Amino acid sequence: MRVLVTGGAGYIGSHLVDRLVALRHEVTVLDNLSTGNLANLDQSRGQVRMVENTILNDRVVDKLVRRADTVFHLAAGVGVGNIVKDPLGALRTNTRGAENVIEACVKHERRLLLASTSEIYGKTSKMPMSEDDDRVLGSTTVARWGYSTAKAIDEHLALAYAQHGLRMSVVRYFNSFGPRIDSRGYGSVVANMLRQALANEPLTVHGDGTQTRCFTYVGDTVEGTLRAGLDSRAEGVIFNVGNDRETTINDLAALIIEMTGSRSVVQRVSYEERYGKGFEDTKRRVPDVRRAAEVLGFRAGVELRDGLERTLQWWRLTHR
Ligand code: UDP
Repeated sequence: MRVLVTGGAGYIGSHLVDRLVALRHEVTVLDNLSTGNLANLDQSRGQVRMVENTILNDRVVDKLVRRADTVFHLAAGVGVGNIVKDPLGALRTNTRGAENVIEACVKHERRLLLASTSEIYGKTSKMPMSEDDDRVLGSTTVARWGYSTAKAIDEHLALAYAQHGLRMSVVRYFNSFGPRIDSRGYGSVVANMLRQALANEPLTVHGDGTQTRCFTYVGDTVEGTLRAGLDSRAEGVIFNVGNDRETTINDLAALIIEMTGSRSVVQRVSYEERYGKGFEDTKRRVPDVRRAAEVLGFRAGVELRDGLERTLQWWRLTHR
């Protein structure tokens, strides 16, 4: 098949591209290299067509979607740090840009896989989070929730168009980590702490560190994405794609210090110091993984320690 991957030079997108290439699909990447980079595509170099442009360019999007059979839409403004720093940029990309992709898929009758986020659920306290659960968000004055809201608009739009024939699926990612994670740590706690540990700098734990996440190895993230994007039984359906093993940020910090053999200590930083006044965090985040298991036969299987081991190997090779 001819596959278009928006955000294909990104951390998750590039792993998806590698898999698609290995499956002998003809892959085109559309990426503006804002958080992605060309080195991520080294493994597939010469086997993919790279278009450096933005999803905000509706003419480019239209042309590329027309030429594809199926579209994986992963391009987005991502990372809590980025969203809080530049809410407008992220909102434009995640609403207008996504709308361009969705509408081109409608116009040219292409299959769409929409990459969404567990941030959709906001700060709900119901665990695990099931796909049809309520969303619980704070005020619009808290920039963070703009990301959740924008992604929810994309989901609504795709679902509404599905009623008019769009073949689409949505995946909601839960804290993906692995090789190619952005070592500047623009969002991810894993990237940030690995960088800090390997430099023997203090590991910054926001708040009291009892907040939890379910860290999902990128190989699993991509497997769930592929299945949702290629399986016809997935059409019209939203899936959580994540590991359901819950880890506190304190435990993550301790594990990273142990695995790297770092001399780092843990340093507590208040949310306000890191993200500014009025920031709100999600206290716990755990996916209900049953739907992906039942419909797609998918279960994230890589343990945190194994995934960190693989990430460390990659990090040491590429950050000398
Ligand atoms: N966090 C942390 N130290 C860091 C980066 C993040 O304690 O250096 C915390 C962050 O406040 C949140 C959790 O780790 O509670 C996960 O943050 P991340 O930005 O990776 O993703 P999120 O799940 O919040 O989107």
